Amino acid sequence: MKPRKVPLRKCVACQQMMPKKSLIRIVRSPEGQVSIDLTGKKSGRGAYLCGQVACFKLAHKNRALDRALNSTVGPEVYEQLARDFLAVEEEYLLTRDREGEDDHE
Ligand SMILES: [Zn+2]
Repeated sequence: MKPRKVPLRKCVACQQMMPKKSLIRIVRSPEGQVSIDLTGKKSGRGAYLCGQVACFKLAHKNRALDRALNSTVGPEVYEQLARDFLAVEEEYLLTRDREGEDDHE
């Protein structure tokens, strides 16, 4: 087996480099809509958060997300993101706990 290169991305809040897979992608679509991208396949400008609500809050507070997405993220978008983020965080933590195990369907 060839060693696989793990793509790293930086969490916009805590500035930590993490494997792309363990980060949550926030994407701004070409239409300007900001949403959480769980598939990692949405087109648009993306920013990464390491999946902790603390980081989301920090990114909100210091506008790191706005800077990363090069757009002003409105309060209603943050509200929506916060709700989605909480839902996703649980899933994210579960996935992370399962890391290393084989994924059988
Ligand atoms: Zn972080």
